[in-house]
Amino acid sequence: GVWQARIVTLFPDAFPGVLGLSLTGKALQDGRWQLHTHDLRSFGVGKHRNVDDTPAGGGAGMVMRADVVGPAIEAAQRFARGRWPILYMSPRGRPFTQEMAKDLARCDGVTVLCGRFEGVDERVLEHFGVTEVSIGDYVLTGGEIAAQTVLDATVRLLPGVLGNVESTVEESHSNGLLEHPQFTRPALWEGHAIPDVLMSGNHAEIAKWREAESHRLTQRRRPDLWAAKTGKD
Ligand code: SAM
Repeated sequence: GVWQARIVTLFPDAFPGVLGLSLTGKALQDGRWQLHTHDLRSFGVGKHRNVDDTPAGGGAGMVMRADVVGPAIEAAQRFARGRWPILYMSPRGRPFTQEMAKDLARCDGVTVLCGRFEGVDERVLEHFGVTEVSIGDYVLTGGEIAAQTVLDATVRLLPGVLGNVESTVEESHSNGLLEHPQFTRPALWEGHAIPDVLMSGNHAEIAKWREAESHRLTQRRRPDLWAAKTGKD
């Protein structure tokens, strides 16, 4: 079967969102991956289909109920096969990286839980062995944009999604470094020329220049990545 994403969310209308455009959207249309949503509202309790309640112990905001989120995850997991992690998008989670995207692309699919309000009852996370994943050290209103971020980074790595396979080998983070600068026509723009070496047709020289630029940028902008790559600072 094809790689599948199962999204558990209060806002299924947010999907496919930007994932329906360009490369990821074309791949979705072509059946190279599938996207399914599970609407948390339909698992709500009572006449009003409540999905949240006040936090135990008091405090601000609302918490998503275990007896709502749990059955929704179960519904999604009925489609799971092979290696299929359950992720919860969360600012407390493990920072998302290109390595994690590569690993997800090697799975058979993924279930992604999108939080709202103050998040979900902790017991659900423990019960299903959910992995918490963060897209950065800031707080979003909900997990939908975070889920789309993770899916975008993952889907473009699936076989046949990127036309030019080389571009995933060379791009930023794939080798632990930042990519070299890019240029295209016109050769002269507002008095700024494209570096001569790129117009020289000398592929060895071009490769050398790009590598040097990649190293220079990484050292200057991301000393953390440079140290991890080279063991120096
Ligand atoms: N009370 C939570 C906390 O302090 O950890 C924040 C809840 S946030 C307002 C609502 C939802 O947005 C979260 O449950 C999560 O799904 C999503 N979210 C917010 N920031 C995120 C981030 N940096 N990465 C991934 N998901 C995030």
